[in-house]
Amino acid sequence: MSGFVSLVGAGPGNPELLTLLGKRRLQEADVVVYDRLVNPALLSPLMAEKIDVGKLPHHHKFSQYQINDLLVKLAREGKRVVRLKAGDPYVFGRGGEESQYLRERNVAFEVVPGITSAIAGLGAAGIPITHRDFASSFHIITGHHKAAGKELDWQNIAHQEGTIVFLMGMEELGRITQHLIENGKSPQTPVAVIQWATHWKQRAVKSDLANISQVVTENKMSSPALIVVGDVVSLMDELYPHLPLQGLHLLVPFKEPSQLFAKLQDQGAAVNFFDRRLKMPLKFDLPDISHGGTLVVTDFAAFHFFQQTLLASGFDHRALLYWQILTTNHMVDRKLRDAGIISDGNFDMENSQYRDPVIVLGEQQTLSHLPGHYSEKIATYQAKPVAQQIDLTNFHAVIFPSSASASDLVEGCDADQRRRLVLMPCFAMGTMVAEECHRLGLENVIAVEPTFDAVVNAVERKFQNESSRSTSRQFRDNISPNPAKDN
Ligand code: SAH
Repeated sequence: MSGFVSLVGAGPGNPELLTLLGKRRLQEADVVVYDRLVNPALLSPLMAEKIDVGKLPHHHKFSQYQINDLLVKLAREGKRVVRLKAGDPYVFGRGGEESQYLRERNVAFEVVPGITSAIAGLGAAGIPITHRDFASSFHIITGHHKAAGKELDWQNIAHQEGTIVFLMGMEELGRITQHLIENGKSPQTPVAVIQWATHWKQRAVKSDLANISQVVTENKMSSPALIVVGDVVSLMDELYPHLPLQGLHLLVPFKEPSQLFAKLQDQGAAVNFFDRRLKMPLKFDLPDISHGGTLVVTDFAAFHFFQQTLLASGFDHRALLYWQILTTNHMVDRKLRDAGIISDGNFDMENSQYRDPVIVLGEQQTLSHLPGHYSEKIATYQAKPVAQQIDLTNFHAVIFPSSASASDLVEGCDADQRRRLVLMPCFAMGTMVAEECHRLGLENVIAVEPTFDAVVNAVERKFQNESSRSTSRQFRDNISPNPAKDN
């Protein structure tokens, strides 16, 4: 069997700026070969093997030749390969060469376009690449010195009326501005530099051709960034998006689809996922269910596996007609409701008036240290921690919708990750979840009312005055003749 390679454009950074076909290809993939600029949030939900061939400038992990060869080798093993590239696969980044290499070796491939940073990155900083009053064309140019082995036609470039966007140009910024001025572009032409466009750490500065190099140095801006030259840059102040959670990078448990993810992203936060534990069903004896009693559901998965055993024994929901069904938190209520069951309320450990027998369903380990008196505890599954492949230093806060999500993350962290997590702001949805966070040793726990809107508000309140974030949401007006403004 011969495999197939999809060169997929990952878009500029925000994981939701991916095409539907790109998303499907990622879900279908056996292996994903990805670049440095690809947002990890696109990768974390995937089951596929993931190979990082990221090329830091001057630190090539894999040479282009090795990448080409790897794609061929994986395809010849019969795998569905996704070659995931930032932006659009055919806008710089050597996607064309990869296609040629595959074609020459008769490996079947396709190209799935992506949203290029060269256009969308400008929009993310409030700069429309064309505008009737300012630019009727745009030109996307590599700032890489050795582009095609020859010098660019600067005379021609400098005389374009439209917007000029340089990619890979940060190391050559001084040379680029010099060439443009020497070839007749006004030193007062507005210039913006946008770093990590659509990522949580997006930053943008604005100046003019004469001063942009200095402004970039002062603000310590570096690659990856777009250099935008042209009058459209003057719209940046007016059109720069301002959302309440912009510049925040938040961690939430993986779930698809995720309302929490959507609500936070809609408010401008960048959201990434941590892995949940693997749930493995356990064998257990069904209790006598014919006379009714009280069933306490501590998490939805526990109920799900209980139900599987019921079904396997020839019973459906109706077998629970005489049972009072109680839950230990709102999330379980919500999920039971989605499954067609309205719970009779929350279980209160202080209350001993429940109808016997009181049977509690849960995960094996969680049940072993669950306080309270029950007729029977039934562990319907066992959860195995999964190592968390995530750099926690990149996050401002984590959100736990359930107790299980908190223990999943903590147990999957190594010692270094735990040290960081202990001090990180953790938003716990509901008091039970907050208690679990404390029990797990987390020290910066913020208990919030268990609704998604309450979480969004709490995150906003917590961070609205924090200076730690101001650098990631800043953009500065350094247009001459007032370059001293920053001093
Ligand atoms: N194929 C990509 C470009 C690859 S070349 C695309 O279509 O976007 C790599 C260069 O792209 C970087 O040096 C930088 O100039 C630019 N770039 C890519 N993503 C970016 C982002 N999110 N923010 C700013 N620049 C980005």
